[in-house]
Amino acid sequence: MKDNVTKFLQNNRQWLAEKQDIEPQYFQKLTTGQQPVALLLGCSDSRVSPAVVLGSDLGEIFVHRNIANVVAHSDMNFLSVLQYAVEVLGIEDVIVYGHYGCGGVKAAWEDDAIGLIDNWLAHIKDVIARHQAELDAIVDEHDRLDRLVELNVLAQIENLRQTSIYRKAMKAGKTLRLHAWVYDFASGKVNVLEPERMMSAA
Ligand SMILES: [Zn+2]
Repeated sequence: MKDNVTKFLQNNRQWLAEKQDIEPQYFQKLTTGQQPVALLLGCSDSRVSPAVVLGSDLGEIFVHRNIANVVAHSDMNFLSVLQYAVEVLGIEDVIVYGHYGCGGVKAAWEDDAIGLIDNWLAHIKDVIARHQAELDAIVDEHDRLDRLVELNVLAQIENLRQTSIYRKAMKAGKTLRLHAWVYDFASGKVNVLEPERMMSAA
C-alpha cells in the first residue's frame, strides 16, 4: 500500500544518484566533518525550509527549528545547539529566520488556547505585551501580524544577546554577528530587518 511518505524515499535514491553522478566523492567528503558557516534558528513550518529557500548545500548551515523561532533561556535544546555552534564549530554568524504568515505568532496574537503549545507561545505573548501600543495602532490585521512576526525576530535577537553563550563569546573577544531575517513564502523573498542596528557590536 502506498502512503504519503514513500515518495520521499524514492526521491532520496534519485537524489543521491544524481549527486554522485555530478561528484562521485560528494558523500565521502561529508564524512570528514562539518564546517558550517552559520547557525540558523527557524520555524518548524513546512513552507520555510531554509536549505531550499537559501540554496545552501549540505554542511553549510547548522540548523535549529522550533515553533515561531523562539530563543527561550530555559530551552536546553536550543542552548546546546548554540553552544556547540559557537564553541565547537566556531560559527560566527547566527541567523534568526522568522517568516510572515507564522501560525505560532498568529495563535499567540489571537490568544487561542490550544494546549501544551500555549506555554511555548507565552514567549511571543511577552513580545506582544512589550509592543502592544504599536501593534494596536496597526489597523489592518494582516499588516499587524506581519509586524509582530518582525518584532518577534528582533526580540529573539535580543534574547540571543542575553544568553550566557553569547556573553561569554563577547567577553572572549570572539566575533558573533546576529542576523534578523524574515522570509515571505508568498513571494519567496527573504527580508533583512534593520541590518545597521543588528550588525553593530553588543
Ligand atoms: Zn512559523
